[in-house]
Amino acid sequence: MGWARLAAANASTPQEVARQLAWTRREFLRTGAGLALSSEGQENIPHLMRELIPQSAFFTQVVNRGILGHYVATASLATGVYETINNFASLPPEHPTVFEYFRKDLKRPASDAWVVAPSNGFNRIGESSHRSYGPGLGAKVILPKHLLTAATSGGGPDYEHLLRDNYETPFHTPELAGSEFELQQLGMMLKLSVDDFKAHALTLSSPDELSVYIVRQLMRQQAPSLLWITMHDIDIAHAGAYSLYIDGIRRTDRLCADLWKTIESEPEYAGKTTLFILPDFGRDADDDSGGNGFQHHRTGDALSRTTWMMALGAGVREGVVFDRPMESTDLVPTLGSMLGFSTSLAQGKPIPELL
Ligand SMILES: [Zn+2]
Repeated sequence: MGWARLAAANASTPQEVARQLAWTRREFLRTGAGLALSSEGQENIPHLMRELIPQSAFFTQVVNRGILGHYVATASLATGVYETINNFASLPPEHPTVFEYFRKDLKRPASDAWVVAPSNGFNRIGESSHRSYGPGLGAKVILPKHLLTAATSGGGPDYEHLLRDNYETPFHTPELAGSEFELQQLGMMLKLSVDDFKAHALTLSSPDELSVYIVRQLMRQQAPSLLWITMHDIDIAHAGAYSLYIDGIRRTDRLCADLWKTIESEPEYAGKTTLFILPDFGRDADDDSGGNGFQHHRTGDALSRTTWMMALGAGVREGVVFDRPMESTDLVPTLGSMLGFSTSLAQGKPIPELL
């Protein structure tokens, strides 16, 4: 239903509508939700299909030409440059992040830009090593699993389902210092006691739910202007169990809608917030001999590189689809143009349809 309305918005003939409908459906389901299936997969993303996409500007071809590892690809999304840092090392991005551009140009305090990331390997994502930016200008990074580990002195069986860190190999877990201090700071900032945090964590079913819980607290207590959350449950696909992958997709679908509901219900955000949702990259095609279907993202084939993006909320047209190819690196220059800060070292181009 949502698709028909979307497809009709920028197509002039019935043939064109049909073509677009078929194309966007197929591509969205294959790359976006990561389902190497046909239209039957729609049932796994009911919130995106029925609630979010109909009120968004939807881009059906976002191409990632960079390295297909989660940390380095997310760093590329955050800098607007295809970063080449080692995906498995504890390194900052080499080019300025959107957080640094935002804070430096608009003279924003440290409390105004935050990242909530699922994997402890993302601990350096908030701030680059660039000499004109870097230390002191980036985003604060919250690693919910790190906090939970600190709060529970190493986790324990009750929290194990929330503490799996990385589905990719080689496995990398950086040594993170200052846990107790961080935990106290976080408690004060989020107005959350360690006991409340632990008790609430027990009610959650996955690491991404823990992240969304933290994001909600952060929005209520700190109301940052720029907030970036990464979700990782879907990457359970690497384990090879299709049913767990589908569970991850369904949960992410629900959490995206929950985030939007929170935005719409918080006075600091409602009516004046733009939400961007996009995957870091896709997954290998079923028919690529070098790949293994949904399980990995190793081949660099078209499906593993092509995804989608939706933007919704303040300043964005509703219910429009754009099939023109764009690149992952276009996100940062677009945010800069929309929010009024310079992103001079980014390689991508602002997306004119959003300006
Ligand atoms: Zn992965």
